[in-house]
Amino acid sequence: MIVMKFGGTSVENATAINRVAKIVSSRVSENPVVVVSAMAKVTDQLVAMANYAGGGDAETALDLSRKLRARHIEASTELLGNSKSKAFLADIERDFSALDDLLRGICAVGEITPRTTDNILSFGERVNSKIVAAAFCASEMNAMHVDSRECIVTNNQFTRAIPDFDATNDRLAAKIRPLLSKGAIPVMGGFIGATREGIVTTIGRGGSDFSAAIVGAGLDATRIEIWTDVDGMKTTDPNLCPNALRIKTIAFEEAAELAYFGAKVLHPSTLLPAVQKNIPVLVLNSRNPGNEGTRIVARATHCRNPFKAIAAKKRITIIDIVATRMLGAHGFLRAVFEVFDKHRCAVDVVSTSEVSVSLTVDSNESIPALAADLEKLGDVKYEGRKAIVCMVGENIRETPGVAAKVFGAIADTNVRMISQGASEINITFVVEEDDVPEVVRQLHEVFFADPDPEVFAYA
Ligand code: ADP
Ligand code: ASP
Ligand code: MG
Repeated sequence: MIVMKFGGTSVENATAINRVAKIVSSRVSENPVVVVSAMAKVTDQLVAMANYAGGGDAETALDLSRKLRARHIEASTELLGNSKSKAFLADIERDFSALDDLLRGICAVGEITPRTTDNILSFGERVNSKIVAAAFCASEMNAMHVDSRECIVTNNQFTRAIPDFDATNDRLAAKIRPLLSKGAIPVMGGFIGATREGIVTTIGRGGSDFSAAIVGAGLDATRIEIWTDVDGMKTTDPNLCPNALRIKTIAFEEAAELAYFGAKVLHPSTLLPAVQKNIPVLVLNSRNPGNEGTRIVARATHCRNPFKAIAAKKRITIIDIVATRMLGAHGFLRAVFEVFDKHRCAVDVVSTSEVSVSLTVDSNESIPALAADLEKLGDVKYEGRKAIVCMVGENIRETPGVAAKVFGAIADTNVRMISQGASEINITFVVEEDDVPEVVRQLHEVFFADPDPEVFAYA
């Protein structure tokens, strides 16, 4: 079997969903399980609704919900036709009425918790997966909608829930395998799951890629396909650099590093389940299905360019801590990292001297809570609006002169922190957020002027 995941823009309206139906019907003989996101921008709108409701503004929240309902009803009617779809439309209406009740409830209480946030956010994938399944049936495919809340078991860390792989794999075997053996095409929503008690959870924004990998690993897929709106993984974000090249093949660890450091095309957790089962992951374009896309595999082809790609992660804060307590260098670092551990906060780049340490965290982290603990250890300074630039390639550690060429290419830029050698495959450094477009363009020009045709393609 294979897993085919379609992101928001690939299922954003009736036209897009019809395109998807065609793509899936071309793979029926491979026993696909289909994982779909909410329609494009829907999750953002659900977040906005939850916030309006939490702030007591029922009117705006319900008005947004009305628009969302109309968009889904319109797509359903276009896909299914008016007469056949009465019962189906009634079901979708019921879902939106439940969403409205929830929004009114939040307004009444005057507070939004992570648990109710997840309940609200889940509607995008819940509703859209039903629509896609119905659309497949309308185009003569034997599709069956599967409720992801009955398959993906997670802990109760709402908004960023962590899957319980053993429990999930048992559920997948029980719910999905029988459908596949009957020749049906299971269609399920990505991004959502439920605790063992059945309370709905989400696994983090952009998490449908991860859902696809969880399903693929759980069912021993021969391939996981991530269908999106670009021709695969590119040498950099095509929004920053329109002449970014398509990467034909890349190794799991290189792609994982890029995803972690900001290449939004893949959710950072996607590759872990695939690596464990050695399942190839393909990134493909639903608007251009004839393109080969990118193949992510255990061992990539040798590349004569030092780098495969450049990623940038914005919204980074640098924290500088100068020790005031006499802890000694090792005691100081231990105490600092204990604070980050206590707040479950990931640190990306670190540089140290005897009495001070600079490190970077995502600006979305709860910095005031961290600050209270860090200030017990020393003088602390924060600088926001920074970005991490990460350049990924094979054997960087063994290639002489690479660092000189990287920093030579951006000689006019103020580079705040540098890290190389922590892994064999990357050079990472921190710059001002506003400098990212220029830095990425300059680096791309230098390192991809003469691309290896075995690894990169212009289209
Ligand atoms: P989906 O809704 O299909 O999950 P996303 O918007 O999450 O799609 O991811 C696709 C987008 O990722 C692309 O449209 C592109 O703007 C962005 N992107 C960032 N870095 C890269 C990269 N290195 N290669 C390809 N796309 C990238
Ligand atoms: N719909 C979710 C989001 O926008 C999950 C996803 O699309 O991957 O974050
Ligand atoms: Mg995505």
